[in-house]
Amino acid sequence: MVDEPTNPLNSEIEALVNPSSIEQSDVLAEVEAVKAAQSPELPLLVASGLNKSFGGIRAIDNAAIEVRKGSITGLVGPNGAGKTTLFNLLLNFIRSDSGRVLFDGEPVHHLPPYRIARMGMVRTFQVARALSRMSVMDNMLLAAQKQTGENFWMTWFKQREIAQEEKQQRQKAMEILESIGLAHMASEYAGALSGGQRKLLEMGRALMTDPKLILLDEPAAGVNPTLINQICDRIQRWNREGLTFLIIEHNMDVIMSLCDRVWVLAEGRNLAAGTPAEIQSNPEVLEAYLGQ
Ligand code: ATP
Repeated sequence: MVDEPTNPLNSEIEALVNPSSIEQSDVLAEVEAVKAAQSPELPLLVASGLNKSFGGIRAIDNAAIEVRKGSITGLVGPNGAGKTTLFNLLLNFIRSDSGRVLFDGEPVHHLPPYRIARMGMVRTFQVARALSRMSVMDNMLLAAQKQTGENFWMTWFKQREIAQEEKQQRQKAMEILESIGLAHMASEYAGALSGGQRKLLEMGRALMTDPKLILLDEPAAGVNPTLINQICDRIQRWNREGLTFLIIEHNMDVIMSLCDRVWVLAEGRNLAAGTPAEIQSNPEVLEAYLGQ
């Protein structure tokens, strides 16, 4: 977790990690905050003190997370750890009981998901949500944001602009479909795609919104190994082009090969955060998985 043995930050981080009186999640959040203070850029996403209960189940328990700009950050944990719930809280798909979320320096926990999407934070789902009886191209076009033609009156008064905008969106959609290897399926029903191709389509739809951060919920689940490699290649390429990712994934090979940093949740709480290698050798993380 600590970069250099001589770093004066070490003692500060050590002191934070050890005291027994502080909650583990507070400690992790503090450690990350101290490290972030060293970094020239503010994190793109920071959430802290998040709580969510469903009836008697405490799904998220004082959790924190941070995603640095330009990173591919992983979110892992045993089944039922609260990963998807945390995604839902970050995007306000579900309202948190308490806590705050800052995206790109702005508080977003009070905003509806569409406003958060317009600011540049979007997600994909564990089970891909393509509209099966629409074409792949139409699925892509539906995802584009702030289209003039969405306004009824504009369709009367700005017909030329709308036609031009549609042409540009179509071109952009085709370029994205080419980059995810689905251009040849553009006019097919989305229902004809395989599970893995649907996941790629979901990523394509997310890209149509010109995001800064994409939250991917299990991009490799149910996908054949060849397509997993293809999906990982695309994620790395988009990341090199400037996109930041937060990824929930059970496939540890994917996490290890893609992520700069990994956050571990267990029973709704932060269990650890660090590089993939640090997480892989963390005894508490191993125990949480084995004890499942
Ligand atoms: P998995 O890896 O299996 O997908 P997860 O880490 O994403 O799991 P969540 O789906 O966030 O875990 O679930 C965390 C806990 O919250 C579980 O106990 C789950 O049953 C519960 N939970 C999640 N959503 C709801 C809901 N809408 N109503 C009631 N309980 C819920």
